[in-house]
Amino acid sequence: MNDTPNDSTTPTGSETVVVIVEDDPNIADLVELYLRRDGFRPFQAGTGERALEVIAERKPKLILLDIGLPGELDGLDVCRSVRATSNVPIIFLTARDDEVDRVLGLELGADDYVTKPFSPRELVARVKTILRRSDGPVEPSPAAVDLGEGIVINGARREATVGGDAVALATREFDLAMYLAEHRGLALSRRQLLDGVWGADWIGDDRTVDVHVRQLRKKLGDGFHLETVWGVGYRLD
Ligand code: CA
Repeated sequence: MNDTPNDSTTPTGSETVVVIVEDDPNIADLVELYLRRDGFRPFQAGTGERALEVIAERKPKLILLDIGLPGELDGLDVCRSVRATSNVPIIFLTARDDEVDRVLGLELGADDYVTKPFSPRELVARVKTILRRSDGPVEPSPAAVDLGEGIVINGARREATVGGDAVALATREFDLAMYLAEHRGLALSRRQLLDGVWGADWIGDDRTVDVHVRQLRKKLGDGFHLETVWGVGYRLD
């Protein structure tokens, strides 16, 4: 995919609002520049407190969220607060490996993360990938997959229901649930799941899959028969 801003004659962002939460103005301005060139409408916030105001006001389609922020609220606090009411995709901007561990370990429903220093072009490519997913998959998913035990994965509404009650799933959690549902009975390796759900160009590791699997098990409960296949990965029965 060629996503060099200068080569792009047709903006792809279509005025999609993205909030950049980042206290380093150099990084924030650079990311804003790249997003703007691709047709997005970026807004910046330099503190966690300001981020919550801007997010409430602008209602972004996606949030880029730095973890280390000045003031009372760090990026993880912002994520928690946003997640209380919304499944808007969030990409964390992490500075160190231990921050990656915190993002994954806290199971906050991050949709992706990039480690600084990152290429703004790569970041914009990830933004587009995630927005394509959250706008609805390119290939039509089945309207609904009934997994039994009262669990239904609803492709049109991008939610799961357990016993008729809607369960909020983050973007990647939903994608993973749908992918597993569409490959029921097959043992899938973590690499296959990463490729199938996150995309072959996604630079991540097996922990990401495991964290999302834990979230799905927690949210969908005992009726969700996702088996760990030792030495391989996972199989939905
Ligand atoms: Ca920072």
